[in-house]
Amino acid sequence: MIVSKIGGSSLGDKKCFMRFKEVIKSDEKRKVIVVSAPGKRFSDDEKITDLLISCFKKAENKESFLADFSKIENRFLEISEGLACFERIKSELKSIKSALFKATYEDYIISRGEYLCAITASCLLNYTFIDPSLFMFFDSEGKIDEKKSSCALQKLYRQYPHMVIPGFYGISPNGKIKTFPRGGSDITGSFVSAFLHAEKYENMTDVSGLFMAPPCIYPNSSKIDVLKLENLKILSHFSNGVFNEGAVDILIKHDIPLEIKNTFSGEKGTISLRCPKNPELIAGMGAKKGIGETMLILLAGKVTGDGLFAAFLLNCLCNEKIAVLGISKSKFGEGLIFNISKYDFEASFCILYKVAEQFKEGKT
Ligand code: ASP
Repeated sequence: MIVSKIGGSSLGDKKCFMRFKEVIKSDEKRKVIVVSAPGKRFSDDEKITDLLISCFKKAENKESFLADFSKIENRFLEISEGLACFERIKSELKSIKSALFKATYEDYIISRGEYLCAITASCLLNYTFIDPSLFMFFDSEGKIDEKKSSCALQKLYRQYPHMVIPGFYGISPNGKIKTFPRGGSDITGSFVSAFLHAEKYENMTDVSGLFMAPPCIYPNSSKIDVLKLENLKILSHFSNGVFNEGAVDILIKHDIPLEIKNTFSGEKGTISLRCPKNPELIAGMGAKKGIGETMLILLAGKVTGDGLFAAFLLNCLCNEKIAVLGISKSKFGEGLIFNISKYDFEASFCILYKVAEQFKEGKT
């Protein structure tokens, strides 16, 4: 059985929903579906979760949230039009609006994007809607009580072998909805996969997998076919968040294989495993801002633990007159971090990328 988590960018409008149905139905192993809230349809569009947050903030400050709320209404009415759940969506929207007027319960409000999305998806697929409040139990420390939660979900799964689950939230011991951090539907997907011992956790999104370098920094880098989950964690921590960092730990702990893939293209994505047969010497690269006017560049992979390799990279940068301000090991696992001036960032990244790519192909 496969757990498929669908990102919000693949559920932005009615057309996406219809294509999503085709994709899910094309593999009968896709029995448990986790959904995010509808995301952007075009680059300057708004995500439903952002609109809900904005509504809540406005309501809290006693400002009118109606303009933002009508964008949410319109989106869900468009998506659910013609489906059997249309009237239900209408009445759920009314309840959310009333709750907003009270403005007391933020987690409940901001989780409603996933909630409405899952109701619609379950209706479209003819799968059972399962609310996370029935099984995703937070303990008093704010962590998921895995034993209690997995028992409850397994019981539900025996009863309802095809289900759609809203991502991003669970329930606290006081009976109130509690959300995960932003991007938390990935976490729901990881927990659900672990609780049900899924053969694979498929994370469907708008990119076709992970790339050697974040495309926003280095376009056209090569796609990673297989990588170690630990390296995915280092890369997620550093880079632009194709996959939620916290969601990786759950997969490592429970040894669940992950595939990050494009929802609609059908091509193979990036597989991430706890122990791949041939652990990659170089897994990929990432970058983030350092302190002050500095940038940090990360290289992840087995070889980064080798002092000679580090010295070689340092030499490559020095040969191009780049001053390396510091070099350190990643605290999570196999990773090497270079600290350089932001003015040297692009040149340094290119140099390191070229070495990494050659190394990967056995040319260095
Ligand atoms: N909708 C939530 C967010 O935008 C959770 C998610 O998409 O994973 O952060």
